[in-house]
Amino acid sequence: MTAARTLYRDLTLVDGTGASPVADAVIVVEGGTIVHAGPREQAPQPRPGDLEVPLGGRTVLPGFVDAHVHIGFESGKELAANNASVPRSLHAFESGDRMRRTLEAGVTSVRDLGGADAGFRAAQERGLVRGPRMNMALRLMSHTGGHADFTLPSGQNPHDCAHTGAEIADSPQEAVVATRRLVRDGADVVKVCATGGLTSPSDGPTDEGLTQEEIAAIVAETARHGGRPVAAHAQGAAGVRNAVRGGAASIEHGYLVDDEGIDLMLENGTFLVPTLSTFYFEERLHLMSQKAVDTKRALTEETYRCVSRAVERGVRVAMGTDAGISEHGRNLRELTQLVSVGLSPMAAIVAGTRDAAELVGTDDRVGTVEAGKLADLVVCDGDPLADVSLLGDPDNVKLVLQGGETVKDIRWEGGRRPGPAAPPGF
Ligand SMILES: [Zn+2]
Repeated sequence: MTAARTLYRDLTLVDGTGASPVADAVIVVEGGTIVHAGPREQAPQPRPGDLEVPLGGRTVLPGFVDAHVHIGFESGKELAANNASVPRSLHAFESGDRMRRTLEAGVTSVRDLGGADAGFRAAQERGLVRGPRMNMALRLMSHTGGHADFTLPSGQNPHDCAHTGAEIADSPQEAVVATRRLVRDGADVVKVCATGGLTSPSDGPTDEGLTQEEIAAIVAETARHGGRPVAAHAQGAAGVRNAVRGGAASIEHGYLVDDEGIDLMLENGTFLVPTLSTFYFEERLHLMSQKAVDTKRALTEETYRCVSRAVERGVRVAMGTDAGISEHGRNLRELTQLVSVGLSPMAAIVAGTRDAAELVGTDDRVGTVEAGKLADLVVCDGDPLADVSLLGDPDNVKLVLQGGETVKDIRWEGGRRPGPAAPPGF
């Protein structure tokens, strides 16, 4: 007996490859996998037992991939305290809630770049919590006094615990050992700090972090263990150059990248994940330290200038929001930000789907709506190619499928109720 299939029809398909949208398309899902996505004329005929779902002319896109989130915390302030004021069980439930909000925003996969342990990935895979597929860095790595070193002037370090912690390395050899610990603990990606940042107590965005040699040693070590990508937190121009020369697969933030850094990124095919959602910070001032607010304001104009220049010169962009520093559950506002630095709406969507999946290393399974891929789908009202900001409002994300399973469906809320099933044959 053949398994029942679900046939989605009456939809416009934006498949995530950058190809022109297909009006009046049909998507056929069988056993969680897409078996057809394209024009209605080419779709297989319905079989008895198939479920038909008309989507009322809505737009269907791939489930989005956010290449930079922190499920383990809600804000920069919480990060600084490492959630020290709540029991670990409560922290886990709160993180589970953030995973749900992320999924309901239309993000079916994330890369968590530090602050959450491998249990969240396992819980999602086992169906204990509803959330995006998790690709995880576990802990970030920096040098002593760098972005991952949360030692306070008192000498105390709120991150000095088994749950999140950090990796501190001060030589290529120590960086190799730290990489081995991360691989042992199940990291899918190694997150290195090539500059300081806003949330660390003792350095800032233009301070350099791990050296080129240290980063190269990490890249060489990951290559011996299946070639996990190295993601480099890098804000100032010098740190960006160190990270790219060291072999990082992506520059996270890249706020102050200069032309030399852009040249290197183009030469090496390095992705930029600009995390511009963090610049919605004026609505989150109560969640930030004064130092972070002042630094962020001072960075804003120059960041948009530098990132726009990188886009203009053709650096590949993957979507990442830094949710945790920015707001969880409104991840797709990043698309509006990407358009503001020069991407077309279509290019922004590709950056958030196919290209982010390529960076994460899951593009064989997700990132596009094509036969053979997992049925991770987002259905939205309106035409996001005319107005990409539609996707930034979770209320416009009407239906989300993950591996063929409906994980959000608000198509009928406040609107018409579903009528009887449409007759077969279309
Ligand atoms: Zn981050």
